[in-house]
Amino acid sequence: MTDTAGTTDEPGHGGALAVPASAVWLKGQLLEIASALHPDRRPVVVREWTDPVRLHDPAPVGHRFLFLVCVSGGDPPSSAGFDDVLNAFTVAGWNVHRRSSGHPGESWATARREEFEVKVYEGDGPGILSLTGWTPVVYTERQLGQPLFTLTTATGVLCDDCHGWGVCLLCEGRAYSGGSGGYGRCSCAGNNAGPGKCVECAGRGFLTSDAVSWKRKQYGLPAADRSDAWPQPPAEDGHDSNTSAFADVAQRPCVCGEFRCFWCNILTPADDHLLSRFTGICQGCAAQRSYAFTLPPRE
Ligand SMILES: [Zn+2]
Ligand SMILES: [Zn+2]
Ligand SMILES: [Zn+2]
Repeated sequence: MTDTAGTTDEPGHGGALAVPASAVWLKGQLLEIASALHPDRRPVVVREWTDPVRLHDPAPVGHRFLFLVCVSGGDPPSSAGFDDVLNAFTVAGWNVHRRSSGHPGESWATARREEFEVKVYEGDGPGILSLTGWTPVVYTERQLGQPLFTLTTATGVLCDDCHGWGVCLLCEGRAYSGGSGGYGRCSCAGNNAGPGKCVECAGRGFLTSDAVSWKRKQYGLPAADRSDAWPQPPAEDGHDSNTSAFADVAQRPCVCGEFRCFWCNILTPADDHLLSRFTGICQGCAAQRSYAFTLPPRE
C-alpha cells in the first residue's frame, strides 16, 4: 500500500509540467474576483500545486491544477465578507451553492463553472477568507473522463485501489467488455456496489470510515472520536498577520508527508493579542492537524 502517493514527486507547478491554459485562466479568475473585493489589498496566492492522476501504473496519466488564494486574513476585519465573495462569483458567471457549515461562525460554499470548481471558506472570528480553486484533470496522452476525486478534492482520504476514480481499474468500469472470448467477466462483477465499481470503496472514490480507522492505526494516531485526537499545540509567535500565518501553515506537511488539507480557522481576541487557530484533517492519513499563532491585536 502506498500512503504518500503524489506527495514527493509533485511539489508544485514548476518542473517539467507545462501549465495549461485552463490553469492560467482559473488563477486569473480567482485573482480578479479577489482583487475587485479589496482594491486596497492584494490577494495572496498562498500555494499552487498539482494533483497527479493515476490509473494502474504509478506514473501519472494527467494532472489537476489547484490554487489556494487568501482574500483576507480577517485582521483587520475586511469590509467585504463571505456574501460579497459569493456575489462576485455569481456576477462573473459561476454557479454558487452554499453549504451547511460544521461549526458556528464558519461559512463555506462551492462555485462551479463548466468543469472548474472553487471552494469558498470563511473562518470564525471572522478568520481567513480563502478560495481553493481547481481545474478539470488535464491528460497528457489518452483523453479519459474526469475521476470522481483527486488527492485534494476527495472528501476524506483517497481510495488506495481506484485512486479516486470510483471504478474498477481492471476493467476501467466496463465490467462486461473484458476478454475477447468466453464470458470476459471482470472480478468486480460480483461486487455489492455493482459491476464496474471499485470493490474497495464501493464506487465512492474515497476510503470508508473503517479503512480510515485502519490507516490512522498504521500511523499510530488516536481514534478520531477520542478527545486527544485534536492536538492542542502551544501558540507560535513570528507572524504579524493571519494571512502570513496561513501562508506558513499551507506549506507545512503532515507527519505522513502529505500537505493537502482544507484549513479551518478561528480568530479570537485574547488579553492583549489575537489568537489564531488552524485545524484540518490530513488528506493522506486522516490525522487531525492543528496549529496556533499569537498575532498583534486589532486596531
Ligand atoms: Zn476505490
Ligand atoms: Zn472490473
Ligand atoms: Zn497525514
